[in-house]
Amino acid sequence: MDGNFNENDISRVVEADRAHIWHHLSQHKQYMNDDAAQQVDPRIIVEGKGMRVWDQKGKEHLDGVSGGVWTVNVGYGRERIANAVRDQLIKLNYFAGSAGSIPGSNFAEKLISKMPGMSRVYYANSGSEANEKGFKMVRQIAHKKYGGKKHKVLYRDRDYHGTTITSLSAGGQDERGAQYGPFTPGFIRVPHCMEYRAFEQDGAPQENYGVWAADQIEKVILAEGPDTVGGLCLEPVTAGGGVITPPDGYWDRVQEICKKYDILLHIDEVVCGVGRTGTWFGYQNYGIKPDMVTMAKGVASGYAAISCLVTTEEVFDMFKDDASDPLNYFRDISTFGGCTAGPTAGLENMAIIEEEGLLDNTVQMGDYMLDQLRALSDKHAIIGDVRGKGLFLGAELVADRDTRAPAAEALVSAVVGDCMNQGVIIGMTNRSVPGKNNTLCFSPALIAQKDDIDQIITAVDGALGRVFT
Ligand code: PMP
Repeated sequence: MDGNFNENDISRVVEADRAHIWHHLSQHKQYMNDDAAQQVDPRIIVEGKGMRVWDQKGKEHLDGVSGGVWTVNVGYGRERIANAVRDQLIKLNYFAGSAGSIPGSNFAEKLISKMPGMSRVYYANSGSEANEKGFKMVRQIAHKKYGGKKHKVLYRDRDYHGTTITSLSAGGQDERGAQYGPFTPGFIRVPHCMEYRAFEQDGAPQENYGVWAADQIEKVILAEGPDTVGGLCLEPVTAGGGVITPPDGYWDRVQEICKKYDILLHIDEVVCGVGRTGTWFGYQNYGIKPDMVTMAKGVASGYAAISCLVTTEEVFDMFKDDASDPLNYFRDISTFGGCTAGPTAGLENMAIIEEEGLLDNTVQMGDYMLDQLRALSDKHAIIGDVRGKGLFLGAELVADRDTRAPAAEALVSAVVGDCMNQGVIIGMTNRSVPGKNNTLCFSPALIAQKDDIDQIITAVDGALGRVFT
């Protein structure tokens, strides 16, 4: 910490927080319980440097989840990004509508140079927003080419695409949406491809599960009518749904199916995008050729709010003819898509990843961490499965390895809490589905070194030992 830490100021901030902040993903009773013994202070993160953050009590934490939700890929305290953003904001902070900007062009060119086959960048603010813009494009293409019929978008069980009503309508985690219906029509669910839980799916084979899982998508297309399905939106590696890596053979078959039925493949890279899995984009691990790619969190590592929808030139072509026909242009805007902070930060973020060799580091440290997690699973029978790609890893906890019955959620939560007490922040998936919130998540910044990984592993080892005695 820089020494500017003033206890009086901080206690005032905590009280202001208690009085006025509505925290994300939080049940507030814990912060304002009539019984003082039950009341906890909201946690306030005051400062960050590299892989570490400090809270209002001055306690240091190793951040094993890059800002809570897989975002701060290049780590905290990057003056280079802050300075570039500062300079740009003084020169020109914002202009929107149909105008472009220097950082907007520069960043788009850089991004596209890492995405062979892709061509156009559409700026927005959040992952949900970028995804919705992709859904809007599918609908507009349906109106333009298919009399409105081919408008349905398929999404997968356990995938998540955002928090707005329409992105929740494409959400495969019911617990996140149950209280917010009615939903937007035209979004159709396909089964998950989680090999570890394949035994829960009717008819899933032991061999060639990946091809079978992809074939389930074709079944849904045939049941709905191929002439009604315009898009398929998938995470390359499912994040919040349980860190689900695709089984062998899955993506090749998905790609074939999209081609066969003329369905646009929309890859949601909001979590995997910009380095997280050791490649620039998660889809690049699997030879996928998407039509649309959305990204947000890692694009600027949290130094500015930015998301992008990137399309092929073929998709763009469908929107670029004579604008006297409203079906020929994408009548959409994002107010803060015109803020120059995002692309400026994005450009620096990518330069850091390149200059510091962070993709290679992610592959090496990811492999190292996967091995360490596997070693932990030899020691703790509670770990049923370890999976992930790059520095995007999960350990699924089970009460019984034979039946794969999930470990009790309260105990999984206790592991996260125990690590927090040890000064290590880790995550867990699906915080509100009884029985399904059993995967510990790890996504340290791409700058992680062996010592950092060892500290996380030691904390988890200790926590598992204490919680599951
Ligand atoms: N897609 C995925 C895969 C996500 O994990 C998230 C956020 N966790 C989103 C979309 C939504 O992004 P945002 O919260 O920025 O709207």
